Amino acid sequence: MVKAERVRKHFGRVEVLKGVDLEVMPRTVMCVVGPSGSGKSTFLRCINHLEQISGGRLWVDGELVGYRQRGGKLYELKEKEVAQHRRDIGMVFQRFNLFPHMTALGNVVEAPVQVRGANRADARRRGLELLERVGLGERCDMYPSQLSGGQQQRVAIARALAMDPKLMLFDEPTSALDPELVGEVLDVMRGLAEAGMTMIVVTHEMGFAREVGDQLVFMDDGVVVEAGNPRDVINSPQHERTQAFLSKVL
Ligand code: ADP
Ligand code: MG
Repeated sequence: MVKAERVRKHFGRVEVLKGVDLEVMPRTVMCVVGPSGSGKSTFLRCINHLEQISGGRLWVDGELVGYRQRGGKLYELKEKEVAQHRRDIGMVFQRFNLFPHMTALGNVVEAPVQVRGANRADARRRGLELLERVGLGERCDMYPSQLSGGQQQRVAIARALAMDPKLMLFDEPTSALDPELVGEVLDVMRGLAEAGMTMIVVTHEMGFAREVGDQLVFMDDGVVVEAGNPRDVINSPQHERTQAFLSKVL
């Protein structure tokens, strides 16, 4: 579903990704950990076409990100084509970014109606199903300000799912939450994983990584330092930098 080969990204002269290699198979979960500034968010943003890579190759669902290959040459995708690719990728951020003037259901229904031209009644029906799936069916008419952080984040997940993504990206989805609200969001994510969603999750919740992750990737300074089965990486990290990092978060 995702393949990165020597992916590089620089901002001006600052090299943030220095050759990232990794692969995510369909219906699997990759958890990504690493110190602040190591390039985790930038990498997710490259996958989601929010940043253009500066080197290497990146594929999502078999298609090169940002480029079209024709006759051995690469052409940059047009804005419209990029928008089309982005629809297949759901993203959930640390901050929930809900529309404050819309109810939970309104938030979930908005993109299918506006972007995909879905029929509003159908979108509402499907939106309600999704809110029920994240445990918020009864709160569908509440506004974000009336919901807890954990509930808002679950609405954000339902909103991303409303576009029927092939891939879900999570960028520290529980870092901004009070500790007692973390579990309810992780439970929803675990349910998604069990239902077969392909996911890349940047998180420092090592319990989640161990139990739900099929792969655990440790990034530092713009490269993948270590990757493997989460239990193996957590129990016996091979690299000194991984050991040092894990000793701080475990
Ligand atoms: P992480 O998510 O692992 O904390 P980021 O991907 O957010 O790391 O950032 C990695 C580095 O890239 C940081 O040093 C950050 O300052 C830099 N960076 C990120 N986005 C930009 C940008 N748009 N312009 C310049 N530097 C950036
Ligand atoms: Mg980040």
